[in-house]
Amino acid sequence: MKAVFVTEFGGVEKLRYEDLPMPMVGDGQALVKVHAIGVNFIDIYYRTGLYPAPPPVVLGMEAAGVVERVAPTVKEVKPGDRVAWAMHRGAYAEHAAVPVWLLVPIPPELDFQSAAASLLQGMTAHYLTHSTYPLKEGETCLVHAAAGGTGRWIAAAAKIRGARVIGTASTLEKEKIAREAGCDEVILYTENDFEYETRKLTGGRGVDVVYDSVGAATWEKSLGSIRPRGMMVSFGNASGAVPAFQPLALSQKGSLFLTRPVLTHYCATRDELLWRATDVFRWLIEGRFRLLIDKVYKLADAGQAQTDLASRKTAGKLLLVP
Ligand code: NDP
Repeated sequence: MKAVFVTEFGGVEKLRYEDLPMPMVGDGQALVKVHAIGVNFIDIYYRTGLYPAPPPVVLGMEAAGVVERVAPTVKEVKPGDRVAWAMHRGAYAEHAAVPVWLLVPIPPELDFQSAAASLLQGMTAHYLTHSTYPLKEGETCLVHAAAGGTGRWIAAAAKIRGARVIGTASTLEKEKIAREAGCDEVILYTENDFEYETRKLTGGRGVDVVYDSVGAATWEKSLGSIRPRGMMVSFGNASGAVPAFQPLALSQKGSLFLTRPVLTHYCATRDELLWRATDVFRWLIEGRFRLLIDKVYKLADAGQAQTDLASRKTAGKLLLVP
């Protein structure tokens, strides 16, 4: 089968689109024929080695497809089932062997592309707004890169919680996309000081929580945008990893809480995973979240998709098809 993988970490030139043996179906696993693959920033981290894994590293954490075969004791899914998953690497391929507890049934209303475009980023928005900092009605959050794949989902999920949403975006076009996703206010953070603007928009108080996926470039000013005893949720590194810092800074900024969460720890059991996935698919079906698929690439063009994502050219979701 064809797959996209790296044997050496580095730029997109290190990506190989070549034949690999069909994956072995281990205990508790199913073999899935992949129909659509979600592109996520984490795929870039695995390519560059920021997130280390032993080579060959088949990229991709998210896809949708049809179960072809299951290990003997498996009961959760059967051949022919339409399923999607997030959080298991190996999705940039024609087939993948996936632990069945991670497989989510795709509702009949949704096609493969919608499912592959939603699960990882939608569940991330779900855990950030419902569990990490469970937003309450009337609270205010700051969401960076609000026109991005995950950012659009967070803006929508925060509105579902009844919060006021301040987003940031780099261009006027992205500002419009962020507003359509649910942001009440959008700050062009490439032109304006978002800390100053956030303080202004909150009457000097600061927001209850910042959901920060940008990392190094926004870190300092994000801390400065939070109310006393509010929360800094640093959940990504799109501009680079946050540098080392002194915990004392949290006291100086107002006894802040800091967390650096990941999706896997918030989908720790099958029940928790299905709770989040079911909500995400329901939001889609009920039209509470409007999917924006920026572009669908061929699997062989995964390098171009990653280049576009990393160069801030995209809004919403990117997909690959085998
Ligand atoms: P996005 O679609 O959000 O793309 C990244 C966006 O970040 C860009 O469009 C851009 O928006 C903004 N950005 C700001 N500075 C830079 C920069 N220097 N280089 C590139 N982009 C920049 O990607 P994803 O939704 O896939 O992921 C966003 C982040 O969220 C990633 O860091 C990812 O790792 C993280 N994430 C974390 C999860 C977790 O559980 N911890 C789960 C899912 C995602 P603009 O042009 O408006 O500035």
